[in-house]
Amino acid sequence: MEFEPVIGLEIHLQLATESKIFCSCSTEFGKPPNVNTCPVCLGLPGALPVLNRNVPEFAAQLGIALNCEVRLDSQFARKNYFYPDLPKAYQISQFDKPICEKGWLDIETESRGKSRIGITRIHMEEDAGKLIHSEDSNDSLVDLNRAGVPLLEIVSEPDVRSAEEAKIYMEKIHAIATTIGISDGDMEKGHLRCDANVSLRPSGQKEFGTRTETKNLNSFRFVKQAITYEMHRQREEILDGKTIIQETRLWDPDRKVTFSMRSKEEADEYRYFPDPDLPLVHLSTKIIETFRKNLPELPETKKQRFMEEHGLSVYDAEVLSVSKEISAYFENILSYGASPKIACNWVIGELTRVMNESGKSLHEIKITPENLADLTKLIESGEISNKIAKTIFEEMLNSAKTPAHIIEEKGLKQISDAGKLGQIAEELLAANQEQVEQYRAGKTKLIGFFVGQMMKQTRGKGNPAVINRLLKEKLEA
Ligand code: ADP
Ligand code: MG
Ligand code: ZN
Repeated sequence: MEFEPVIGLEIHLQLATESKIFCSCSTEFGKPPNVNTCPVCLGLPGALPVLNRNVPEFAAQLGIALNCEVRLDSQFARKNYFYPDLPKAYQISQFDKPICEKGWLDIETESRGKSRIGITRIHMEEDAGKLIHSEDSNDSLVDLNRAGVPLLEIVSEPDVRSAEEAKIYMEKIHAIATTIGISDGDMEKGHLRCDANVSLRPSGQKEFGTRTETKNLNSFRFVKQAITYEMHRQREEILDGKTIIQETRLWDPDRKVTFSMRSKEEADEYRYFPDPDLPLVHLSTKIIETFRKNLPELPETKKQRFMEEHGLSVYDAEVLSVSKEISAYFENILSYGASPKIACNWVIGELTRVMNESGKSLHEIKITPENLADLTKLIESGEISNKIAKTIFEEMLNSAKTPAHIIEEKGLKQISDAGKLGQIAEELLAANQEQVEQYRAGKTKLIGFFVGQMMKQTRGKGNPAVINRLLKEKLEA
């Protein structure tokens, strides 16, 4: 029997505010436990929450970017449950009047082409604290620094149809949120976490099957792996004649399996009710229109523009447009007159490699757009080979020197002197008579061999255009 997966995603996005959602405690990461706390986020009796105005404003901006209807008067509600990292025994969230609803996001995959994923809702809520299970004693410790950090929960319709689509959807939400600047999107700090709801149904059937929810997937790779695993697991269960039970599961990244955490039936009674401590959150139509007008260029639009204006491939345009920093850097290089294709290759090639290997962000890397533009111009005009360019690039990483300066200093200047190169070519041909014969007998691919040898002799400094011309002249003489 053929099965079709049905997937809906709930994404938690941490907002880039300096203070928490309902108090003025700092949201700074990495502080000693419980330093960023006060009576409000500790849940002490009598302490009252006051909403951080950035939070609904950020939520509205994301809602606009995701084609949602933004509610002018949304409401906070208490979601009641007990957990040691939730001192109030309720989480302030939103329930039946969330700030945004009924949006959509278009994605594209190789397997299904273009598809539109409905966004059911976006609501604001506070994060819980963190439990630390001590290894050397049997104690569990509570750190409430994270309690009250603002989150948006973005709930999708069950419109996703593959693990690949889920990953792309999550990447796109990340790209949009970081482009509009409402989240730092730092995956290592858990700024973006996804709960994946997965069910299977026989192909052609309309009704959905029973779903499981795998919680807290904090990387794009885990989302894809966990959904793939869950699809296989459910398929095996069904083929074995068993029924899928609705449950919450967790992903074990080491064993690469999902495992059951709790069954859903008993866990779901939150007794939501409007939070009496907080008034309705009002946004004016005027401010929403201002947000709409001032929304920065979104990754999708940027991608299309890069393809049209700069003639980039879909792949290149996609890679460049997902990050605000990288796309701005790229355009900065172009403003110094670099050719788009070569500039793109260096940005998504060498530059990205260095960022990945060193863990540095773009602004921590010393290479200025102007210097990188100079480098690409030298390559384009044929003044330096790609190999020399890489040497210069490495050097630029460690100093603020211009390519011209480095060429001068390191003696990397290209040899274009036909007399000098011609002499080297003569010697090379004399020493490789056999290959010369073969070339003349029609095996012209051997030109590559001769060019390679010439480059070796000149330690990469020979001008490839001149070398090619000289070799052809001599071989075809
Ligand atoms: P809950 O409140 O229990 O999390 P929701 O109805 O809000 O349940 O749904 C949560 C998520 O599960 C949504 O993203 C929704 O699209 C998805 N979903 C609902 N039904 C299914 C199903 N049968 N298979 C896969 N995903 C589903
Ligand atoms: Mg849920
Ligand atoms: Zn606080």
